[in-house]
Amino acid sequence: MINLTKNNIKIRAAATNKADAISQVGQLLVENGNMQPGYITSMMEREKVAHTYLGNGIAIPHGLPKDRDLILETGISVVQIPQGVEWNPGEQVYLVVGIAAKSDEHLEILSNLTHVLDDEPTLKRLAQTTNPDDIIACLTNQSTNGNGHGVEAISSDFANGIDVVIPGTVGLHARPATVLVNAAKAFESDIQIRYGNQTANAKSLVSLLKLGVAGGQTVRLMAQGRDEAAALASLQREIEAGLGEEAEETTPIALGHSLTFESSAIPGIAASPGLAIAPIFQLKRGKIVFEATAVDPQAEETRLRQAVETAKVQLQELYDDVKSRSGTGKAAIFLAHQEFLNDPELLTEAIAQLQDKRSAAWVWQQAYEQRAHGLEQLHDPLLAGRASDLRDVGRRVLRLLADRVEDESSLPKSPTILIAEDLTPSDTAGLDPTLILGFCTAYGGPTSHSAIIARSLGIPAIVGAGPAVLNLSNSTRCILDGESGNLYPNPTQADLEVARTAQQDLQALRETEQLARFQPAIMTDGHRVEVVANIGAAAEAEQAVNAGAEGVGLLRTEFLFLQRSHPPSEDEQFAAYSRMTKALNGLPLIVRTLDIGGDKAVPYLNLPAEDNPFLGVRGIRLCLQRPDLFRPQLRAIYRTAQMGAVKIMFPMIATLEELQAAKAMAEETRLEIGAPVVEIGMMIEVPSAVLMAEEFAQEVDFFSIGTNDLTQYVLAMDRGHPALAKQADGLHPAVLRMIDHTVKAASAAGKWVGVCGGMAGDPKGAAILAGLGVHELSISIPSVAAVKAKLRSLSHAQTQDLATRALKCRNAQAVRALT
Ligand code: PEP
Ligand code: MG
Repeated sequence: MINLTKNNIKIRAAATNKADAISQVGQLLVENGNMQPGYITSMMEREKVAHTYLGNGIAIPHGLPKDRDLILETGISVVQIPQGVEWNPGEQVYLVVGIAAKSDEHLEILSNLTHVLDDEPTLKRLAQTTNPDDIIACLTNQSTNGNGHGVEAISSDFANGIDVVIPGTVGLHARPATVLVNAAKAFESDIQIRYGNQTANAKSLVSLLKLGVAGGQTVRLMAQGRDEAAALASLQREIEAGLGEEAEETTPIALGHSLTFESSAIPGIAASPGLAIAPIFQLKRGKIVFEATAVDPQAEETRLRQAVETAKVQLQELYDDVKSRSGTGKAAIFLAHQEFLNDPELLTEAIAQLQDKRSAAWVWQQAYEQRAHGLEQLHDPLLAGRASDLRDVGRRVLRLLADRVEDESSLPKSPTILIAEDLTPSDTAGLDPTLILGFCTAYGGPTSHSAIIARSLGIPAIVGAGPAVLNLSNSTRCILDGESGNLYPNPTQADLEVARTAQQDLQALRETEQLARFQPAIMTDGHRVEVVANIGAAAEAEQAVNAGAEGVGLLRTEFLFLQRSHPPSEDEQFAAYSRMTKALNGLPLIVRTLDIGGDKAVPYLNLPAEDNPFLGVRGIRLCLQRPDLFRPQLRAIYRTAQMGAVKIMFPMIATLEELQAAKAMAEETRLEIGAPVVEIGMMIEVPSAVLMAEEFAQEVDFFSIGTNDLTQYVLAMDRGHPALAKQADGLHPAVLRMIDHTVKAASAAGKWVGVCGGMAGDPKGAAILAGLGVHELSISIPSVAAVKAKLRSLSHAQTQDLATRALKCRNAQAVRALT
């Protein structure tokens, strides 16, 4: 809840223009300790990429999400301008509501604002009042139900609906709401969104804003009409893909200083940080050549339908590729592209024109161009972005229908800065960061998907630099500063040196993390978390040590059994394990016994096929049934224990009996060999193990939580299922509560707990786990330096607070949104 006082209100102000008004409201926020002065610049920048005019004389300027660290405390300020100031052509603003929002506390006020939007007498009064209390009263009143813009107390829901979680850290604010409205308008059905006891028309921006939905909240999406099912499915995907907010959640790697060059610059918009120095290459889009006419409409229709289907397959492949490199969010644009192709009207419109003896290529180009043009006419940067997405996907199909593509430039084989009119997400996803050191486009905006993809690939980029960049000749040497958004053609020698030094500084910044990799992860208040590595092969033990790992927390021994025609012998296993302990030189090696089954098949074992392999004879269940596999492994491990620091861990334990049987076999083997006693632990990856953790803790020396499997079994979502990948999130509070329970049970018994699932290598996951009291994080080798650095930058108390809040969340998105 935001506290609004007279100090936050300036009445009877005058502003010469919009910038002056923003600067006044920003100044008020600075004076009230809400933000640093730099955020005013950010507010100005925001105007370039999104409208902040709310309607009826109210504007809500706010900064770019990437600058949120300039916000000291969430707050708002209001500047009343009785004479008005022109915000956009034809839009007069009388109340400027400046927002400095760290998270979503301001949504309530935004919601109240939208409630007075259609209340003209109140607005007139607020625009002229000389009493700041009038404004305070109006903005801090509890939300009342709306009157005319579609928010109504819920009376009757549509029959068809689904619950969806609004993603993002700032909820359903103007930009994502615009995306949603635009998506909803594509359908004929009536579409409503219910939040609590209020319902909004999903096709009205004002109506949606009135709901004041915060990030992580669940709303009910409902549709009624001819295309209701398609509408629900499409809007659900749009919401899950982030409603265009993905770009803002990316934290760019900051250079740490801004650079000044003496050479003249071509200014553009900063899209992806970093510096590049290289000759340029002008990327020319090929000319797609096709006949405009055709004789057989039926054959053309078939060709068109086939091309659309092929394009969908290509997009699925692109989605999978980008997802594996940069994550689901970044890849989501290609799902949205598929969505364009699923639009039956686009195809119907095209096919209808075939009757005039037009070719498939011609009618298709007409259909998508017409639609893209329509979107551009709306003069909204977001919708214009969708127009270029539509052209991207349109050209994809067109190429498949073309006779040939002429004058297409092929990318050079040496490092270069790419210049293009615009780059499509498909173009950007295909760039090789070792050859394309940066790119600069004449058109496009910083929230375009190509900018998002550039950031995820770490390619410095500038967009919207204007057509001047297209006149530069190939091979012109340039400096591209992705931080300031400037391109410097033919820079002076002095500038080149400045740029090279800055590049080195940036590199050094990244290396600092690497250099500190051997420092323990001691948090600012002295609490230590051990950071160890997950490995699957002998050679990786040395790599782990070199990467800063303090040992191996999980050796997946099944990897020694894969890709061969018979199981490794006891001696072979002994050779591998002892090579690891040698490389670790006294650091611990936790050997997990064979975890075969589930998704790890070993053909030569000829195991019977199972309907549900993840619930079948896997892990310890298999080992207990197959002493011919288990005993040699245990012997190899105990032989290694005679010379190195080994611990044993059993996977997939579900019952006390399984654990006891495994322990008994291990002890028999130890006695046989005369090996020393070693610590014995078990993986916690099955819900029954969590619920019986008190009993299990009496039986073992440690627990290691396998969050990959625990998540799939707690949420009943196959860990490898492509459609469930986003939902099967280990940060779901249900999983976190399982971990919390496990840690408490272990600590009551004086036992330590590690986590060796993927969640431990996610910086947010690592912080939450540290806060939950996990002692050891076992992660992939490349993440070691970064996770250690992250933990060193935090206090244990901070992470405990984070963990406490995470446990109370309602879903994984809300946990991810915590700061
Ligand atoms: C896990 O399940 O989290 C785990 C670490 O084991 P694996 O990924 O090998 O199943
Ligand atoms: Mg597992």
